[in-house]
Amino acid sequence: MGVLDIVPAGVLTGDNVRKLFDYAKQNNFAIPVCNCTSSSTVNAVLEAARDIKSPIIIQVSQGGSAYFAGKGLANDKQQASITGAIAAALHVRTVAKEYGVPVVMHSDHCAHKLLPWFDGMLKADEEYFKAHGEPLFSSHMLDLSEEPKEQNIATCVEYFKRMAPLGLWLEMEIGITGGEEDGVDNTGVDNSKLYTQPEDIWDVYDALSKVGPNFSIAAAFGNVHGVYKPGNVRLHPELLGKHQAYASQKLGGKEKPLYLVFHGGSGSTKEEIRTAVTNGVVKMNVDTDTQFAYLQGIRDFVLKKKDYLMTQVGNPEGADKPNKKFYDPRVWVREGEKTLVERVKVACADLGNVNRL
Ligand SMILES: [Zn+2]
Repeated sequence: MGVLDIVPAGVLTGDNVRKLFDYAKQNNFAIPVCNCTSSSTVNAVLEAARDIKSPIIIQVSQGGSAYFAGKGLANDKQQASITGAIAAALHVRTVAKEYGVPVVMHSDHCAHKLLPWFDGMLKADEEYFKAHGEPLFSSHMLDLSEEPKEQNIATCVEYFKRMAPLGLWLEMEIGITGGEEDGVDNTGVDNSKLYTQPEDIWDVYDALSKVGPNFSIAAAFGNVHGVYKPGNVRLHPELLGKHQAYASQKLGGKEKPLYLVFHGGSGSTKEEIRTAVTNGVVKMNVDTDTQFAYLQGIRDFVLKKKDYLMTQVGNPEGADKPNKKFYDPRVWVREGEKTLVERVKVACADLGNVNRL
């Protein structure tokens, strides 16, 4: 039995998202989430998932969403981020079925000051729900981890009460992911905040499970966004096992009750990833590595074909030779897509997410 026996191809919503994550947890694998900023990167991620027969998660960050709509648009009220996120979701909805893979369409970190972005996406979900009986997105992340725990949880509960009836998944963060991503700089944060305690996780579970079952927790276990020299980051994915055990004991022995999310996963060792997956991580973010992968193909093409790219006409083969087939963006952007496809396949393989359909 594979994933397609449980959920359909295309964008998943409602209980189908949980069914996918349950299947991953039961079969000891996790699904990578790739940050996408354009239709080009979305298509490459879907291509990789199709080639290796894997479900996949696509996410847009607040900055990535604005980029999707166009950097030339004003974003002082999050209008470009809202429009771009909607455009990305509609694009994914339109093409995902053609690739034949189940997709979770997700939005990434939303801190308190970015809540207008979240509100805009939620409004689009509600409108889509009225017309189609399901939300536009599969899932959204709220990251109020900078705030006191009680406030973080209370705000998540409020939003989740609006999201659950639509069939939206909520990902929340408690504890802080270090490093810098998308303009949020946590490089100087207090070390204890980088490791969430089991009691805190339980408080989150207890509060959100009263609203609905479809939520996940990004717990901090030393995670840092970005890629650094080995040894600079101390990941402790074994802590996630303690969170599961604590929650399990509270729930009378229910096995691995938590859906956990791994942020700041770029640069992790295979061993760390394995431990995290064994402990109930169902989703892992790999943004930094896929950014580099997208560049590689384009960079190598430009360096190799430099003499064909300096003028529209004239190259080493002759002064009157046209260069259109080298500077056409479908040629050089495609080279970046190819290297991105390969990197997404590696991310899937690292998480055991291959041949799962
Ligand atoms: Zn993150």
